[in-house]
Amino acid sequence: MNFENNLSFAQSLDASDPLRNIREQFLFPQQNGKPFIYLCGNSLGLQPKKAREVLGVQLDNWHNLAVEGWFEGDSPWMFYHKELKKLMAPIVGASPAEVCPMNTLTVNLHLLMVSFYRPQGNRFKIIMEAGAFPSDQYAIESQVRFHGYDPSVAIIEVAPREGEYTLRTEDITDLITSHGDEIALVMFGGINYFTGQWFDMETITKTGHAVGAIVGWDLAHAAGNVPVKLHDWEVDFACWCSYKYQNSGPGGISGIFVHEKHFADRDMNRFAGWWGYKESTRFKMDKGFVPEAGADGWQISCAQVMPMALYHASLQIFESAGFLAPLRNKSIDLTAYLIYIIGEVNKAVGYEQYKVITPNDPAERGAQVSIIAQGDAKGVFDQLVANNVLGDWREPNVIRLSPVPLYNSYEDVFRTGELLLSLSKG
Ligand SMILES: *Cc1c(COP(=O)(O)O)cnc(C)c1O
Repeated sequence: MNFENNLSFAQSLDASDPLRNIREQFLFPQQNGKPFIYLCGNSLGLQPKKAREVLGVQLDNWHNLAVEGWFEGDSPWMFYHKELKKLMAPIVGASPAEVCPMNTLTVNLHLLMVSFYRPQGNRFKIIMEAGAFPSDQYAIESQVRFHGYDPSVAIIEVAPREGEYTLRTEDITDLITSHGDEIALVMFGGINYFTGQWFDMETITKTGHAVGAIVGWDLAHAAGNVPVKLHDWEVDFACWCSYKYQNSGPGGISGIFVHEKHFADRDMNRFAGWWGYKESTRFKMDKGFVPEAGADGWQISCAQVMPMALYHASLQIFESAGFLAPLRNKSIDLTAYLIYIIGEVNKAVGYEQYKVITPNDPAERGAQVSIIAQGDAKGVFDQLVANNVLGDWREPNVIRLSPVPLYNSYEDVFRTGELLLSLSKG
């Protein structure tokens, strides 16, 4: 598309955007009586207007049914997660049996590594991206120690080449291939939180399998942002949080994926709890753990109904939008427009004041654009916020801006550029 850097062009794109009205279903934070241009959905998605209502429904159920709410009412808590599973599955390209809402993200990463990191003999290493989100680094490091290995030996990190910010797929696959049968697990973030790079998940998964490794993905920045096909790509396991691109609120419930090829494996270790027990006989309270089939068998504690209700409300918005395909179409253009607008600002300033480090190729990015700002970067960021544009800041000089197709507009992007330019001149 040929973009133009003016308000009427941005407004014309909004007018022809079939998803333009979905933003009405969200609440925007305000400052000085004006809503923010919110470009921070990579960190915490906005509140669906329905959130208060769905929590109210569950409070009423609790009031009116109390303990009977587990089995009574319109949507008994005992089976409530099944309604979410149906809506989660299309978001990550899975069958409903392969996904389940439970716990929080880092907890699930640990639980899945208990099952899928199975070091043995010479095969004990984990390959991951250098500069992964800290929680993932700590989780992986502690899992390795738990099995008695030295993280500096057992963890292999793939780093960008000198002078580059993002990883090259061939560097990842070459490293996997060269370590071959030493690798127990390939564990990457689908999209890197810092650079916004979307890795070639299918190729990396294939390469990991070719050397006999298990392949898992942390989709914190990918789920609800880019279309992934976990089942078709034969990913072994994955987990994500739902409070970033999926708008389920702070501390929202996490989701897991376990490929159906693993369902029949009875020998797999797992940290069990009563809620993962075979549903039909769970309340016989028998001795000896028998897992429910599918991803549900990884549940431990009873269903977190309130966080599930919030996630459900957001998933219904995805459903009404037609799930990922239409959102992704808009997202590709909206993010390309932001990259174009930043280029226009640089042109007007006369040098590359804002360097985009996120890949330009849509196949290598989602909605997030990470920018290294020259000069007083923090000052620019603070002025953006003071002027009602909310992105986020990463030390030492990176501003992350994420136009989210559910609730951002082309006008949002244009106005952000206009503001950036005025701050650069000033
Ligand atoms: C946001 C994020 C987390 C946060 O994990 P919580 O357990 O939900 O606090 C972990 N890993 C990655 C890659 C993230 O982007």
